[in-house]
Amino acid sequence: MTRVAVAGVAGRMGRTLVEAINATDGLTLSAGLEQAGSSLIGVDVGELAALGATGVKVVDDLANVVDDFDVLIDFTVPVATIKNVEFCARHGKKMVIGTTGLNDEQKAQVAKAAESTAIMHASNMSIGVNVCFKLLEQAARVMGDDVDIEIIEAHHRHKIDAPSGTALSMGEVVADTLGRNLKTCAVYGREGLEGPRDRETIGFGTIRGGDIVGDHTVMFIADGERVEITHKASSRMTFARGAVRASAWVSEQTTGLYNMKDVLDL
Ligand code: NAP
Repeated sequence: MTRVAVAGVAGRMGRTLVEAINATDGLTLSAGLEQAGSSLIGVDVGELAALGATGVKVVDDLANVVDDFDVLIDFTVPVATIKNVEFCARHGKKMVIGTTGLNDEQKAQVAKAAESTAIMHASNMSIGVNVCFKLLEQAARVMGDDVDIEIIEAHHRHKIDAPSGTALSMGEVVADTLGRNLKTCAVYGREGLEGPRDRETIGFGTIRGGDIVGDHTVMFIADGERVEITHKASSRMTFARGAVRASAWVSEQTTGLYNMKDVLDL
């Protein structure tokens, strides 16, 4: 039995993870974490997802549950994730990280920690999106330098980072396939007298509103035709199921930094 702790257990993803772990054989939810000062400290994690009491109470410090879990699933904010990464590396705990919006320095800290423990970090854990990554690679290889490439994403009004981590990952897949560097070829929004489009660029558009769970479209636009590869998530359970699958997988690894491609063997 793999014992799983969830950081941000009362968040949108946290509550969905409680439900997904509860429905999965071979995994047990053994700890839940919220930030210090939260009114939910001491609440039963099962109650957060309306599953009834489980006997596992929300804590505000991983040190309080250090002997109670094997894998930490973390869908929080970058600053909290980094604190948890350092703790898990020190104590040999495996991690599944879904938090997006990490900067380069924070990503380097995750990579460093993965020298001491196994970490799976993915901007999108849905199986469909990871299939899309493969399709994007194929489309970019065939159409890439003859088309203009634009990426549009839409999310709920509470999302704090933009463009989404998934949109950036999609951009990276396309840029890597075409031998471009996303850092120099990405264009984030346009305004004013910009002049004609440079074919080498990859454009990003962001929509925020309502309760959209997560839509992504990558357009390969030629003169006379265009290909669009679209993924639409209608439930957070798709991400939670991916994270649960990743937890079982990462518990079998010793050290290293992985992504969903490794988990799904794509
Ligand atoms: P959310 O509902 O806002 O939940 C975030 C959780 O983190 C909350 O429990 C929040 O607690 C906690 N938190 C915030 N600041 C903290 C801090 N400084 N220290 C400790 N805990 C803190 O957000 P969400 O929609 O679940 O998304 C969470 C993250 O997952 C985002 O980065 C999002 O982009 C990402 N995500 C990834 C995937 C994927 O497949 N990889 C899918 C969906 C979302 P409070 O309520 O007390 O603030």
